[in-house]
Amino acid sequence: MLHLRSMSRLATTGEVLQLIRSGEAVTRADIGRVTGLSRPAVAHRVADLLQRGLILEDADGPSTGGRPPMRLRFAASGGVVPVASLGARRTQIALCDLAGEVLQRTDLDIDVEEGPDVVLPLLMDTWEKLLDGRDDVVGIGLGVPATVEFAAGRVESARVMASWTGVVIPPIIAERFRVPVLVDNDVNVIAMGEHRVVYAAELDDLLFVKVSTRIGAGVISGGGILRGALGAAGEMGHIPVRDGGGVLCRCGNLDCVDSVASGTAILRDLRAKGRDVTSLADVTALVRAGDAETMAVVRQAGRWLGEVISGAVNLLNPAVVVLGGDVAEMFQPLVSGVREVVYRRSTQLATRSLRIERSRLGPGAGITGCALMVLDHVLSARAVDAAAR
Ligand SMILES: [Zn+2]
Repeated sequence: MLHLRSMSRLATTGEVLQLIRSGEAVTRADIGRVTGLSRPAVAHRVADLLQRGLILEDADGPSTGGRPPMRLRFAASGGVVPVASLGARRTQIALCDLAGEVLQRTDLDIDVEEGPDVVLPLLMDTWEKLLDGRDDVVGIGLGVPATVEFAAGRVESARVMASWTGVVIPPIIAERFRVPVLVDNDVNVIAMGEHRVVYAAELDDLLFVKVSTRIGAGVISGGGILRGALGAAGEMGHIPVRDGGGVLCRCGNLDCVDSVASGTAILRDLRAKGRDVTSLADVTALVRAGDAETMAVVRQAGRWLGEVISGAVNLLNPAVVVLGGDVAEMFQPLVSGVREVVYRRSTQLATRSLRIERSRLGPGAGITGCALMVLDHVLSARAVDAAAR
């Protein structure tokens, strides 16, 4: 949802573009009505946007007498955004248009532990191949499985990708592509994608919890991503649970939710019961088959996850909690464990209309989120106005 401030001053060209991008205004008359700008002022801003190739106009159907109003629309094909969503073993690489739609996509099996000196050149080569000579790149976006100091694009605590710790990614990529480069934590990027595509029209507050090999969360608050002071908000995996059984977490503490309820933990617990499972796909198959012992293990993981989620619900009051990641394939037993605890532990007001849903965007959310992160930056009212000066 776009919230235009009450127009105590005149809307800028950049703000007019936001109205057209969001679909709030499709004609010059709409813009005048929403902004209170005079007709000449609207005409001036629209002409500027048309001239810069940021919007297009089409005649709006058959005339009913007189000149038909011209419909304005955002020029989604006016540029391209290369993006990559890095996973521990598999990286999704794509080119998106200015609406965030995927134009081309390819996946690479890379071990991120190979380090930035190997992975980043490989990414850039792949983008260049996909671009095939196109020179209208407006910005580049990356999601990485680590905590990121967002403003700098610096990879911070990187237990997942140790060889990346302290690496500042944007300058390395900008040296070759000379456009703005934005980097964020992978779950933040996925949360942004899921919110914008599935929920933005109806709600502004969402908690996305990714449960795969590891557990992480992304928080959308008031319509925007909540990053905290340096970008570490949403690092939910290392919050401890009660009665976890004294499991030593890789961070050195006991009973972090990551060490008892992640996909890794579920596999370990099933093997300890003598079950022959080697991957989360095996566990998913057992859940689908209704195997009682597997359902019980997944449900217990859901309860532990619910403990941490209920704290987050009390603190943040999201309208929806979205469960994503590989373990979301085991949604039924997992969510019943989560619900059991969340509704018992969270405040009545926070849970009154709380929804707990499964991710609808699935594995493509990271790519979409990366593109939106870049587009929000390069097409922001401020950036558009600054570029005109
Ligand atoms: Zn831990």
